[in-house]
Amino acid sequence: THFGFETVSEGEKAERVYKVFESVAQKYDVMNDAMSLGIHRLWKDALLHVMNPQPGLRLLDVAGGTGDISFRFLEYSRSVRDRQLRHRARANQTPSWQQISSSYSSEEAEPVDSWAVVCDINKEMLKVGRERAEKAGITKGLSWVVGDAEELPFDDDTFDVYSIAFGIRNVTHIEQALQEALRVLKPGGRFLCLEFSKVSNPVLSRLYDAYSFQMIPVLGEVIAGDWKSYQYLVESIRKFPDQETFKDMIEDAGFFRVHYTNLTGGVVAIHSGFKL
Ligand code: SAM
Repeated sequence: THFGFETVSEGEKAERVYKVFESVAQKYDVMNDAMSLGIHRLWKDALLHVMNPQPGLRLLDVAGGTGDISFRFLEYSRSVRDRQLRHRARANQTPSWQQISSSYSSEEAEPVDSWAVVCDINKEMLKVGRERAEKAGITKGLSWVVGDAEELPFDDDTFDVYSIAFGIRNVTHIEQALQEALRVLKPGGRFLCLEFSKVSNPVLSRLYDAYSFQMIPVLGEVIAGDWKSYQYLVESIRKFPDQETFKDMIEDAGFFRVHYTNLTGGVVAIHSGFKL
């Protein structure tokens, strides 16, 4: 297999990926903002819009790192729940004809709380995430679990949504990770992946190459004192399959209604699929 542009053994890849994230963990969030000029926040917000989580869902956020996706998931689903509660309170003050008739036929259930599990192979990343969550007062409905995307420590048919953001390109056997995603999702559950992809516009592609190959390792050295880890991150992006190839891989794993959406001209893509 490969580690960035180098060819390495499978065991070596896993070990080196672990070291990269162990080394970048403390500076990971600052670096994300610096490298992407803050745009990673918009990409993550876009993932949540596609997911559109309703209250009461269980999310498994694999390669969840410092928790960005899970924090957004809890915030989004709670804002939907609060909106529903406000709407219900308003409707109760001025009962409509439909409401009066429905109150005879069915009791509306209270919306239940959502739950997110951040799962990552790297203890250091989870530690930084947990500290962030505590500082922000986000503890309810959130768990942190050390686990490998290729061998998830969860039962079959457990989650409504599986997300993996900027994680799958670091996994040694992508097909195995997709099989695991399918296994832990409930029937009807959704797979969502946010990952760097292929830019089709030649001008944008040249600009993007120049920026990432020349600037990112420099920023890595200046901000985090770590050129090599950031060089790996750029190289691993180039080695990852393009949108169509990855879509085929998700279909081959057994997902249905697979499609993708490009963001920022294909710098990043969101792939989605369902377990039926
Ligand atoms: N999802 C977070 C985000 O978007 O900010 C973190 C992404 S970070 C670029 C990639 C993460 O993948 C790291 O935290 C790393 O430890 C994790 N990772 C790498 N290989 C993994 C594996 N086999 N199983 C689970 N997590 C893995």
